[in-house]
Amino acid sequence: MTSEYIKPIPIIQTWTEQFWKAAKEHKLLIQVCEDCQTRIFYPKKVCPECWSSNLTWEEASGKGKVYSFSVMQDMVEPKFWADIPYVLAMVDLEEGIRLMTRIVACDPEAVEIDMEVEVVFEDITKDCALPFFKPAA
Ligand SMILES: [Zn+2]
Repeated sequence: MTSEYIKPIPIIQTWTEQFWKAAKEHKLLIQVCEDCQTRIFYPKKVCPECWSSNLTWEEASGKGKVYSFSVMQDMVEPKFWADIPYVLAMVDLEEGIRLMTRIVACDPEAVEIDMEVEVVFEDITKDCALPFFKPAA
């Protein structure tokens, strides 16, 4: 966590503010439609199933499994060169949400499809933390 952070920082929108505020407190939130109970990710202004704007939030367990992944070795945006090799992954949460993330705190060679993972937050600035995933304890 330094002021020299050079990688992209999320742009906070009114409908994503709660998500990022919780992330800063190291909590992973999922939007829920109060009218049809659909769980929604990423945060939206209206439910993609019924167009209701009656949306609320629930805290996710933070547990999931790797659905797919790729080990980035080359050909990435120069701001990410220092991170190579790193793992970009799609993780399926227990709550039925699939999200794009990174797998951290393990050798990229050890990552496997269906590997159990859990959320971990990286504080990138004083106001922002990103949800990544690590092998489940
Ligand atoms: Zn809905």
